[in-house]
Amino acid sequence: MEIINRRQRMSSVTRKLRREQDKTIGLVPTMGALHEGHLSLVREARQMCDVVVVSVFVNPTQFGPGEDFARYPRDLTQDTTRLADYNVEYIFAPTVEEIYPKNFSTYVTVEGLSEQLEGVARPGHFRGVATVLTILFNTVRPDFAFFGQKDAQQTLVVKRLVRDLAFDTEIVVLPTVREDSGLALSSRNTYLDNEERRAAAVLYRALSQAREVYKEGERSARRLAEAARDVVDSEPRARLEYISVTDAETMEKLDKISDERPVLIALAVHIGRTRLIDNIVLRPARQKARTAELKSP
Ligand code: AMP
Repeated sequence: MEIINRRQRMSSVTRKLRREQDKTIGLVPTMGALHEGHLSLVREARQMCDVVVVSVFVNPTQFGPGEDFARYPRDLTQDTTRLADYNVEYIFAPTVEEIYPKNFSTYVTVEGLSEQLEGVARPGHFRGVATVLTILFNTVRPDFAFFGQKDAQQTLVVKRLVRDLAFDTEIVVLPTVREDSGLALSSRNTYLDNEERRAAAVLYRALSQAREVYKEGERSARRLAEAARDVVDSEPRARLEYISVTDAETMEKLDKISDERPVLIALAVHIGRTRLIDNIVLRPARQKARTAELKSP
């Protein structure tokens, strides 16, 4: 395994692998402090690609003023040890100056999709995400890039980015990895004390409650949101920032849920000083049946 800090070295390594050895390259973009959620992406990349690059970069442009950029957990030594278990070939761990050199002045904005939910709560967040991914994609030129459903809106933004700007990279989205309590793994969970960690399971409980109500036949988006909100409200340490029920692909707000298209229920909740997000996708039974049919031999 090689740790690469320079853009130029990173692009020359992957250029060679592609041109001279015809290797497929998988990129797993991360901000480090790796946990099982990240590692599930690495495992899939390992299976699908000849060469795996994991980027570890806490990207300042996706943090707003007053957010946790300075205290975000960083531990490259531990990340390296974890990645060694998966025979990852390269870790790309550039400095901030390497990604954003002096006089850096070009940013990428994915309009529309970036302007809701997380985009409202964290202005400029997706501009930072789209910009750093553009730099990473242009540096590594991966055949595949791997993302977690945990950040549902991010997966839609990156798919749109790749389509609109014609990147030659396929986006692979993998399911959210959770603790037994249902709490989605996140590097930010390290901010939680024991009591808060227990309380944080309320996010998934709330989403699961909405799913139950949906299964019972409720198709009003407002009522699903209310069902989830009631669960969050029952946890004294939790403060709901938003809950939204949208089309899972376009993120259009819904009133009535159709039985034709998947629905995304996403929420952001503050537990003490820590802000957590989570989501689930509800798939209509008919769509599930169709997927099963397609899969059967
Ligand atoms: P981050 O380091 O938080 O920027 O995350 C890097 C990648 O890992 C993103 O694509 C995330 O969506 C993904 N990820 C983070 N947490 C999880 C999780 N619990 N399950 C699956 N993927 C995750």
